[in-house]
Amino acid sequence: MERDALEALYSAKTFMTGHFVYASGMHGEDYINKDAIYPHTDKISDLCRLMAEGFKREWIEVVVGPAMGGIVLSQWVAYHLSNMSGRKILSVYAEKEKGHFIFKRDYSKIVAGKNVLVVEDIINTGGTAKDIVDLVRSVDGRVFGVSAICNRGDATKESLDVPELISLVDIKLISWSPNDCPLCQKGVPVNVEFGKGRYFINGGIIPID
Ligand SMILES: [Zn+2]
Repeated sequence: MERDALEALYSAKTFMTGHFVYASGMHGEDYINKDAIYPHTDKISDLCRLMAEGFKREWIEVVVGPAMGGIVLSQWVAYHLSNMSGRKILSVYAEKEKGHFIFKRDYSKIVAGKNVLVVEDIINTGGTAKDIVDLVRSVDGRVFGVSAICNRGDATKESLDVPELISLVDIKLISWSPNDCPLCQKGVPVNVEFGKGRYFINGGIIPID
C-alpha cells in the first residue's frame, strides 16, 4: 500500500527539496507539495482507493473532509467505498470560519447519527483532523476513524481520540527553528513560492490557514 501511494506521490512531483518554511514556522529542506497532486485525477483516485481499502470492512455511511483539499478526497473515498461495499456512501465537507471548522449547507443533518470516516491529505500536528472529528461528534456523528494520505507528524489514533488512524505514507521531515537552521547559516535562499517562506522573508507573522 505504501509503495503504491509513494509511486503516485512521486509521479505527481509532490516531494520537493530546497529551503522551506513550514506552517509551524520551522525550517527544513523537504517539502510535500500536496497541491501538485490534486490536478491529476487518476492519481487522486488511486490514492483515495487505497484510503478506502483501509476502511472497506467498516460500516461507513458518510465521509467527511476539511475544505479545500478534503472536498476532493471525501468525494473520491466515498466513491470507492461505495463501489467496494455496494452501498451508497455519502460525501460532505466542513468549512473553516473564524478559525473553526463548521458544517454549512445543512450537511450536519447528513452526518447526524451516521458512521463517519474523516479524511485528510497531509496530517502535520493533527489539529485539523481533530477539529473535524470533534465537529462530527458535536452533531452526533460516530467517528470510525481517520484516513490520511500522509502522516508527517506525531499524530496517533490516541492523540486524535479515534478508533483507527490509517495513513498511506508516514514521513518524518527533519526541521529546525530559524535560529538553528543550517540552510539559513549557509545562506541558502528561502523558497518563497511554496510553504510560508514569503512571510519569513518579510519578517511577518505566518497566518494560520
Ligand atoms: Zn532556514
